[in-house]
Amino acid sequence: MLKIITVDGPSGVGKGTLCQRLCDITGFHFLDSGAIYRSLAYGVMAQQLDADNELALNDIIALAASLPVNFRAGQIFYEQQDITLAIRNEDVAAIASKVAAIPAVRTALLQRQKAFAQAPGLVADGRDMGTVVFPQADLKLFLTASAKIRAERRVNQLKNQGVIANIDQIISDIEARDERDRNRSVAPLLPAEDAIVIDTSLLTIEQVVDNAVKIMQE
Ligand code: C5P
Repeated sequence: MLKIITVDGPSGVGKGTLCQRLCDITGFHFLDSGAIYRSLAYGVMAQQLDADNELALNDIIALAASLPVNFRAGQIFYEQQDITLAIRNEDVAAIASKVAAIPAVRTALLQRQKAFAQAPGLVADGRDMGTVVFPQADLKLFLTASAKIRAERRVNQLKNQGVIANIDQIISDIEARDERDRNRSVAPLLPAEDAIVIDTSLLTIEQVVDNAVKIMQE
């Protein structure tokens, strides 16, 4: 029987790493729904559409409805271009969270996300996986951590990539994005009623994985 595990929560909370580990353990497929919104943001930027301008709304919705993005062997392609790394910066993320607040964009991307649910199962990473996209999921996890801790993790991650980042700038970017994600009119960032909330602030990734695995086996 097809099983679905959803992992929701704000940015930088460790969802991606947890999901990868859960996929390794279960052999399930992986949906990185944030990457879909980031790919749309990439297209919006490439077409020089202004996500803050009402006049661009119809073009953005049309692009979402026919988004030329493909996931292949862990890589993300926009048309024929590999955008796996290009979409991993805060400029793209900021536009992603703006276009993600448009109700018709979310509707246009819904089926594309649901289509990832294939045997033997799916681990879905996002903001509204347990509330909107897979409300019937077998297990719903919601990760939290303070903005400061999440920013510190991001700074360390960037350091490992040779990039020196300003922590105050990162905290303010994270807070602005979270606020937009939490306060939008559709699919606001909130745990599903039946989600299990894990605060990862004081946990290592190993402890988060162990917790999740224990919950999975209960
Ligand atoms: O998870 P990630 O940081 O890649 O997501 C980028 C942005 O896409 C989020 O800040 C959020 O605005 C949007 N998003 C969303 N719903 C999802 C996944 C991501 O609105 N399921």
